[in-house]
Amino acid sequence: MFKRVLIANRGEIALRVQRTCREMGIETVAVYSEADRNALHVRNADRAVCIGPGPSGESYLVIEKIIQAARDTGADAIHPGYGFLSENPEFVEACVAAGITFIGPPAEAMRALGGKISGRRLMEEAGVPIVPGANDIALDDMETAHREAERIGFPLLVKASSGGGGRGIRLVQSADELENSMRASAAEAATSFKDATIFLEKYVSPARHIEVQIIADAHGNVRAFGERECSVQRRNQKLVEEAPSVAVTPEVRQRLCDAAIAAAKSCGYRNAGTVEFLMDQDGNFYFLEVNARLQVEHPVSELVYGGVDLVAMQLRVAAGEPVPDPDAPLDPVGWAIECRINGEDPFNNFIPSLGLVDFLRAPAGPGVRFDTMLFEGLDIPVFYDSLLGKLIVWAEDRERAIERMKRALKDLIVSGPMTNQAFHLELMDHPDFRSGDIYTSWLESNFTMPALPEDDPRLEVALTAGGLAAGLVQGVSADGGARPAGLTRWVKSARSMARRGIRIEGGTAGWRRGSASR
Ligand code: ADP
Ligand code: ADP
Ligand code: MG
Repeated sequence: MFKRVLIANRGEIALRVQRTCREMGIETVAVYSEADRNALHVRNADRAVCIGPGPSGESYLVIEKIIQAARDTGADAIHPGYGFLSENPEFVEACVAAGITFIGPPAEAMRALGGKISGRRLMEEAGVPIVPGANDIALDDMETAHREAERIGFPLLVKASSGGGGRGIRLVQSADELENSMRASAAEAATSFKDATIFLEKYVSPARHIEVQIIADAHGNVRAFGERECSVQRRNQKLVEEAPSVAVTPEVRQRLCDAAIAAAKSCGYRNAGTVEFLMDQDGNFYFLEVNARLQVEHPVSELVYGGVDLVAMQLRVAAGEPVPDPDAPLDPVGWAIECRINGEDPFNNFIPSLGLVDFLRAPAGPGVRFDTMLFEGLDIPVFYDSLLGKLIVWAEDRERAIERMKRALKDLIVSGPMTNQAFHLELMDHPDFRSGDIYTSWLESNFTMPALPEDDPRLEVALTAGGLAAGLVQGVSADGGARPAGLTRWVKSARSMARRGIRIEGGTAGWRRGSASR
């Protein structure tokens, strides 16, 4: 096993990987930009190396700086997390050249799958159903593009072959929009991914986003960990993920997992990966892409498959160990839901919200997991994406998992930046979500975030919670001291949460936590 692992990432995923390393007796090396100097992943690591200024193009995305940091600290392996360099085959090759193990797939497999177009070709050969489309289209041959578009039919999507995070995708309703959409997609792809290659895909709608977690070892074993349903999306970005899916029967699960395993075997895949599919209303599924890395939403799979640690498995297979039990049964246990807690204002068109976190109460209790970069005193830097944390719950069934998620969302207090908590609370109570009647286009076409009325009763409740804390202070503050300061902070937080449409529960615990930390 490795002695020292460098984690080439930041935020919650860097912490996630550190935790497993620590349990396995592996030392951790953090890398950080100047903007992340005070970040939790830096403080929590055994060693930390500054790799440059805030913009990721000058730090987290610079291969040479990361390899140098690994050399300088004697790291024998690198975990890439997700995003950043995690799907960059040149990074894999640089690791190999430096004699450092890359905890992920080989460069060739990554190349084969990294482009959505080459992934489509590979899957077609492996007999995995793909979305009908056209791989060979270019702006300088609009004649072919139009012919292919007519063949596929409208509406269709223009997609960037190197795309990720929902970028480079354009919906085309009719032929007269085709050229402009192709231009826009290619331009966005060129800027974001340095690759303007685009292709066309039939727009499958309504569709669910269903994906399969796999892990493959160097001995030819591939194990699947069932499906995740990620259909709650905004701008093609996931906001809520769950495992299992209401739409997947044991028989469909078996077929999905077989397809995902075939996909992995077709390209000599190793380590953790996710095979994404779209599923139509008749239960037909089509391959979308492989994410050749650990996925943001991996915890929901961990929770329904007996608490398996996917990062530990990544480390073990990277060190040459076999995947345990490749033929283990696929049946998930219970239900897990993840809400992505983003720094954004749900009442104001989800515009990003940053700033100093001056109060934090993390949710806890039975069945609750909160993977986060947040801490009291963090000044959220502007350079990175808006994911602040992931709130994940497990319960015996979906109904109870939803109730537990609501409880945990109300437990969470972030004072300072706005988060999308209020959005998640609304969603959890929406009848369509409750019934599992969710498609990738659902959120944007069927869900509106209610405006918060001035005289929202929740404000009063929050103030009552504050009042409760006040009573407690009066009861116990005979010795005076710093408690009123904690109280002031609590009431302020309660007020600001109420303004965000979130009624805080368990007020005294919040107050105690706030004052105890001072
Ligand atoms: P997931 O399903 O895990 O969210 P995504 O493809 O959306 O997969 O990407 C995961 C993370 O990586 C997200 O935080 C996203 O913003 C980020 N990301 C994706 N592609 C890129 C890229 N090319 N450059 C930088 N960050 C990216
Ligand atoms: P990314 O790399 O950005 O994650 P994907 O190909 O995985 O790109 O697509 C992201 C999301 O866009 C999907 O989860 C789905 O909601 C939507 N999408 C992509 N392709 C299609 C399609 N052919 N039909 C309908 N929706 C699609
Ligand atoms: Mg995707």
